[in-house]
Formats: sequence, structure tokens, C-alpha cells
Amino acid sequence: MKELNKKEIIELYKKGYSSIKLGKKFNVSQKTISNKLNKWGVSLDRSKYKSPMKGKKHTKQSLKKMSKIHKKYRKELNNDMIKKMYLRGDSNKKIKEKVGCCYPTLKKRLEEMKVYKKKERIKIKKEDLNKYYIKQGLSLVKTGQKLNCSERTIKDRLKEYGIKVRNLSKSRIGIKFSKETKRKMKIARAKQICPVKDTSIEVKIQNFLSLLHIEFFTHKYISEINHGYQCDILIPVQNGIAQKIIIECDGCYWHGCPICKLNSYKKLGERKQLDSNRTKELQEQGFKVIRIWEHKIRVMELNDFEEMLGK
Ligand SMILES: [Zn+2]
Repeated sequence: MKELNKKEIIELYKKGYSSIKLGKKFNVSQKTISNKLNKWGVSLDRSKYKSPMKGKKHTKQSLKKMSKIHKKYRKELNNDMIKKMYLRGDSNKKIKEKVGCCYPTLKKRLEEMKVYKKKERIKIKKEDLNKYYIKQGLSLVKTGQKLNCSERTIKDRLKEYGIKVRNLSKSRIGIKFSKETKRKMKIARAKQICPVKDTSIEVKIQNFLSLLHIEFFTHKYISEINHGYQCDILIPVQNGIAQKIIIECDGCYWHGCPICKLNSYKKLGERKQLDSNRTKELQEQGFKVIRIWEHKIRVMELNDFEEMLGK
């Protein structure tokens, strides 16, 4: 790791150099600079420091250039619709989604059409925040509901009053979830499309299927059974496949292969029970279930697999 000149960087940053510029100057990435600044406790809030353009005027030439660029990139928007929606009281969020622009653009257009009205600041008392957010321990969203404003507003006001915003993990410590919530969380987690990395054995099977021109899905959530879960591979009914098939590529370690005997984990029994319960339930729901051990997949050839499929 290269040693960066702390003093110099901080000085330049406070003078208005951006982290991008500093990165270029010191031959590191912008991310490195901002990480360092963060570590050194320098506030990354640019508004605190002097902007290099502050107090200076653009030259006529550069203004002309800028306006040309702006014109070129000015988005074609339905100004009539913006005006109509705004005047009938639609929320900014709704309007910007409808016309497809960001908030600053929307504001600018409204100002250009001279219809923009500054919203009145919602009055929120510190006592109320103390009552709901601190004493009752309500979440930002729930505090917002009590005080009739958005989560965002609550967050801003807390900062203004110097009240620390709890981070999620801390606010959850000690809270016991009800059985129902736990069940819901479990389902949500099972359905979550995480960047599940396909294991090498899964990939091998997937490649076999592609070679055989068989359509398949990976990590599909199977909700038809009691122990719903994300299966490894699902083959829907299609030409040549009369029954939907689920292929599970069972890793020898995690699923406790009786031949390789790699794992002596105590709860292995539970895991195996779950696997067999699932297989049974799937079969009851009309799936053909093919479970293949990792050690078999490793040496498997295409025709072995074809045979297994019963094609
Ligand atoms: Zn094995």
C-alpha cells in the first residue's frame, strides 16, 4: 500500500479539490482517496469547504459552451403534463416517475413554467421525536406515521436536533420476533434472489442440459410443498420431457454423502431428513426428483446423465 501524504491531501481537499482530482494527482483511485479521508475523519460533506468556483464568474465563452451542452442534453419532457399534475396536487414522486426525470429537473421545469411553489416546512417538535423515536423506540417509518411525514423527514430532523439515528442492527437488538414474523422472514429469505453462485457441479449439469437442448431454470423457488425452497435445477414439461423434473446436485460434504463420509456434523441427520422430506413432498406434487451426489457428477459423462434423465 502506497503511503499517501495525509497533510497535503487534506489541505487540498479543504481547498476544494475533488476526490477524483486528488486521485489523479496521487495516482490512486477516487475511492481510495475518499476512504482515506473518511479514515482521517475529514468530513466528506463538500458544502463545508470552499468550492473552487465559489465567488468566481464563468467567462462568457464558457457560459456559451455550457448552455450549448445543456441544450444538447436537455430532455424532451411533457411540460404540459408536468404542469397539470403539479397543479392538481400530485406528489413530486408520482410526477417524476410518470414523465421520467429526476427531481432537480422537475423542479427546474416547474420554475421555468413559474408554477413551482416552495413547500412549507413540516413542523416537528423535538419533544415528539423524543417521545416516539427515543422513549417508545419506534422506527423511522413508524415515527413518520405518527407525525404524518416521511421517514426521510424524520431522519433529517433527528440530525438537525442532534439526535443520533439508530442503525438498523442496533435497533433490532433484543427485539424478539413473533413466530409469524419469523415464518414470513424465512419465506422471504428462501425466495430472495441472492447472487447465488452456482457450484461447479451445478454448472456441469446445466451444461449437459444445454447440450441436450433441454430448457431449465436454476434456483427456482418451489412453493408447492410444505418445506418450500430454492431448488438447484427445475426442468419444466417440454418436448421430450413428460414430467417436470427437479435435479438436486448434492454436495458430498453438506449433504453428508455416505460414501465419501466427509462430514461428521451433529445436525447432519436433520439435514438429511429435510432432504428426504422434500423429495417425498415433491414427488407427491408430481415432480420427478433426481438427486445426484457430487462425487458422481464429477465423473459423469453426457450419456450417463441422459440415461439418468430417462430420455
Ligand atoms: Zn460423495
